[in-house]
Amino acid sequence: MSDSLFPLSDEHRMIRDAARDFARTAIAPIAAQFDESGEFPFETIKKMGEMGFMGIEIPEEYGGAALDTLAYVLAMEEISKVDASHAVIMSVNNSLYCQGILKFGTEEQKQRFLKPVASGTAVGAYSLTEPMSGSDAGTMQSHAERVGDSYVLNGRKSWVTSGPVADYIIVFMMTDREKKQKGISAFLINAKNAPGFQRGKKEPKLGIRASATSELIFEDCRIPSANRLGQEGEGFKIAMTVLDAGRIGIASQALGIAEAAYEASVAYAREREAFGQKIGEFQGTGFKIADMKTRIEASRLLIYDAAMAKENSKKTGERYTLKSSMAKLFASETAMFCAHAAVQIHGGMGYSRELPVERYFRDAKITEIYEGTSEIQRHVISRSELQSG
Ligand SMILES: Cc1cc2nc3c(=O)[nH]c(=O)nc-3n(C[C@H](O)[C@H](O)[C@H](O)COP(=O)(O)OP(=O)(O)OC[C@H]3O[C@@H](n4cnc5c(N)ncnc54)[C@H](O)[C@@H]3O)c2cc1C
Repeated sequence: MSDSLFPLSDEHRMIRDAARDFARTAIAPIAAQFDESGEFPFETIKKMGEMGFMGIEIPEEYGGAALDTLAYVLAMEEISKVDASHAVIMSVNNSLYCQGILKFGTEEQKQRFLKPVASGTAVGAYSLTEPMSGSDAGTMQSHAERVGDSYVLNGRKSWVTSGPVADYIIVFMMTDREKKQKGISAFLINAKNAPGFQRGKKEPKLGIRASATSELIFEDCRIPSANRLGQEGEGFKIAMTVLDAGRIGIASQALGIAEAAYEASVAYAREREAFGQKIGEFQGTGFKIADMKTRIEASRLLIYDAAMAKENSKKTGERYTLKSSMAKLFASETAMFCAHAAVQIHGGMGYSRELPVERYFRDAKITEIYEGTSEIQRHVISRSELQSG
């Protein structure tokens, strides 16, 4: 990798190596089993918390590891290379949940809602999507009404990563339907004791099966008004700002999956023989390897560049939406490209549950869907280009 463009400090190498070691020794032996059973990997997630992986960029005073975005990306890549389920739990915790409270929360909210999640003793979730509104989040139906010193929440949210197990959740609801996107507000829920709150059905999924995903149901769920995150009407801005960070995490997840598929393919192409030669000696295989490698390195550059832009934004406050969308779009399509090629290079064994390649294939697909589909990323990128200048 072009260390000259993005030189890694000793600290960066340390976190990358720690994540790599942990992924290889603690996650690799259980990844296939948890994928098969769909169980949530509580123990390994807890250990990741103890190692500081669940709040990498959060200041120490709020329970985090106080490292930078590049450190986060490096750790995400290593965990994802071994298991995309652990990686998405980590990504949602770090980006969608912690970053939202760090940026928009009050001091009291940071102490109550950020500290336990950033330190890894509790799991966080982010709930924007509803059954009838995904890409078009501004059309959500769920509703929060201010009653005295409380809000009363009603509605049904869907597709919440870590929904079945989360201790704390950021949820977005309409407080003023007339204002559409500008009428959305964000709330912090203590999922263990919020009255009128229940977890809905757990989704059976194609991939990232050890990451639990569910609906959330709010029926006259009353929470104190002090649990509103940001101002009334600021919810859509919070949701989108946090997604800028989240998309860098998902891009890193995609990069890890792509690399795992690539490395498995190179090893197999060197060993497997057909027609009296190694399959890697066929140009048809070699060209797949070349395209995989090139796309992986290009993804890495886009991701590291987006990470640098996010780091700068901590000083300047400038959004880095374009860079994080480009990184997510390219890396997720690279993950799908590499996983597809890896299955093909492995032939029948690529289709077998005995090797992890078929899991990479199933896991890669989600990176093109959540936190904004590839079509939505293209929309964000083209709008940014066509409207500038
Ligand atoms: C496993 C999983 C985990 C998830 N985790 C979370 C989570 O933790 N929190 C959360 O809030 N959400 C989560 N989601 C929801 C996810 O973000 C949405 O599924 C995604 O944004 C797409 O929304 P949708 O499913 O409603 O598809 P739709 O918006 O209905 O889109 C359907 C198709 O239409 C296309 N389309 C829509 N609009 C346009 C357009 N303007 N131009 C071109 N094409 C368009 C889409 O690209 C897609 O191909 C998760 C989803 C999954 C599957």
